This record gives sequence, C-alpha cells and structure tokens, in this order.
Amino acid sequence: MTKVSQVEFVKADNLKVKPDPNSLQFGKVFTDYMFEMDYDIEEGGWHDPKIKPYGPLSLSPASYVLHYGQAVFEGLKAYKQVDGSTVIFRPEKHIARLNTSNERLCIPKIDEKLALDALTQLIELECDWVPEKEGTSLYIRPFVISVEPYLGVRPSYHYKFLIILSPVGAYYSDGQLNPVKIYVEDEFVRAVKGGVGHVKTPGNYAASLLAQEHAQKKGYEQVLWLDGKENKYVEEVGSMNIFFKINGEIYTPKLNGSILPGVTRDSVIELVKVWGIPFHEERISIEDVFEAHKKGELEEVFGTGTAAVISPVGELRWEDKVITINNNETGEFAKKLYDTITGIQYGKIEDKFNWIK
Ligand code: PMP
Repeated sequence: MTKVSQVEFVKADNLKVKPDPNSLQFGKVFTDYMFEMDYDIEEGGWHDPKIKPYGPLSLSPASYVLHYGQAVFEGLKAYKQVDGSTVIFRPEKHIARLNTSNERLCIPKIDEKLALDALTQLIELECDWVPEKEGTSLYIRPFVISVEPYLGVRPSYHYKFLIILSPVGAYYSDGQLNPVKIYVEDEFVRAVKGGVGHVKTPGNYAASLLAQEHAQKKGYEQVLWLDGKENKYVEEVGSMNIFFKINGEIYTPKLNGSILPGVTRDSVIELVKVWGIPFHEERISIEDVFEAHKKGELEEVFGTGTAAVISPVGELRWEDKVITINNNETGEFAKKLYDTITGIQYGKIEDKFNWIK
C-alpha cells in the first residue's frame, strides 16, 4: 500500500511497558502512538496529519462536542496471523462507514485513501502491540470530534480526526461461545427511521444505557431492540446485528435507515450466500420469531459484531413470554460462522473474499 508521505511523525521520548497478554481487558490500555489530523474551515479543510505520542487532548470547555455531541466513531481490529504478519479486517468498509456517519452528522468527509494509509502506517509502527495469544487483537478506534469553542447550534467549523489503538483480550476467554440471555425491549427504542441509528455517533450509545441497565437488573445481559414506530419489528441486539436460523434458512432484518450496516453482518451474508443457504433480508416481527419457536422451527439466534464476531442467543424474554433457543447451547451454524471468520482473521483459513488488508 502506498504511504502518505506528508504524515508527520513525532517520536515518543519513552515507550510504555506492554501489558501481560493474559490479563488484557477491553479498551483500558492504549498504545504508544495515535494519529491526529485537524480540520479548520479557515485552512481550507483537513490538514496536518500526524502520528504522535498517545496523550491527552487540550480542549476548550466550550468545545462543540462536549455540548451537542457532534461526533462519530468506528471500531475495527488488527490481528496477528499464524505466520506472524499483522493484518486489518476490512478497513476500507469501516472508513467508508465513518464517512457515511460524517455526512449524517454534518462533519466534513475525510479522504478515505489518506485515512487508510494513515491507519496502515500507525498499525505498522505499533505492530508489536498486536497481541499474539489466540482470540486477542488490537482494537482500532478512529473518531471525529467537533472542537470549535462555540455554544450556538450549527455545524462546527473545527474538528479533530483521531485514531487510537488498544490491545484487547479474547471475547470468549475459554474459547467457547457462551449463549447470552436477551430481554426484548418494549419501552425504550434505540433508533427511528430518519434518525441516526444507521450511523455510529456517540449519542446512540448514551441513549442505550438505561435500557441495558434495566435489562441487567432483570437478569438479562443485553436488550433486543424493536423498531421505534410500532415496537413490533426486530432491529438489533445490544450493539450487534441479529440473525435467525428458521427451518434451515437464514433471516436478518433488512437495512431500513435505523439499523447499523455492520461489517460483520455483511461478512456473514457473503458467507451464507457462498455456502448456498437460503437467505432472507426482510422485516421480521418479534411475534413471528416466537411463533417459529412455538412450531419448533427456530433453530438458532445470534448477534454479529466486531467485538464478539458471533454471539449466540440462548434465551429471549418478550413481555411475560420466555423462550430457550437450541437448549441454550451454541448452534452449529453460529459456530461454523465464528470458526470461518476468525479463521480468516488469524490466517488459518484462506481469505477468498479479500477481507484482510
Ligand atoms: N450495531 C451497532 C449499534 C453497533 O454499534 C455495532 C458495532 N459497530 C454493530 C451493530 C456491529 O457492527 P460491526 O459488525 O461493523 O462491528
């Protein structure tokens, strides 16, 4: 990949001691360097890309993002493959989604080639931070914040685009995909058509916390979100997309403007199609899901996302009805998808899809 020669490099005086690979958690430790680029309307756009030591930002307390949340982010991962090389999973899809989010939030778009080159340079520099242990990875968090000190409501004139990196432990520490208990949320909604549910902006996550807290108090790990209009159709599960295996066929909710187009969702769909399994992308009502269970046809339910890759659902509670799926065990299909996608990520399976960069 060609390098962006204009990325300035600011060397760190001291490098950090790397964490014990056996005790890595999610998003708590950050690497030595980060990428930073500024946008100023007076300077004609994005300028001064640099890789510099990871450290605090200096922001005015009046910074726009702190008051009105004009910000977007992404989440993707780099993996150490079995041959020792470091790869990134589908970075161009994530950067394209970052720009879709930028557009929705009135943030100036970023040159995707420049962002990809900068990301590649940063990962190459920090490749010793990519943990090697099975299931571990280097989490990549690109984000854009509006930094103009201004309290009026209009798009900011100043932004920062940053990329920070965090080595993370295996999502499934024992290598087993543990099925989760899910509460079908019938009071709060995550997103509405015409809103911002289809993009990654911080407010979506802040707004989801209370529902998750309620579900956890009731003994459920996450919520299943229904549509914001009729409270009837399945949208997402926690911060993952959702899939159903019913009578040997695969179903997932059709993207409708309030569902995030997950990169893992897209990867699962590509695999399902290549494997020749009947596949349906359509509106799915929660009633139909429970009905399929009643008929004995609901074989598997699972979420998909960068963090877990595949997360099987073992129990669903909707109002006063509780169903157990596949005996609360990981389904064969979910396991096959997990093994295939992680196999490609760690270089154990040939990447026929050109997902690895
Ligand atoms: N939905 C939401 C709301 C999410 O935050 C995420 C995580 N980015 C996903 C779905 C899954 O997306 P991806 O597969 O790209 O990680």
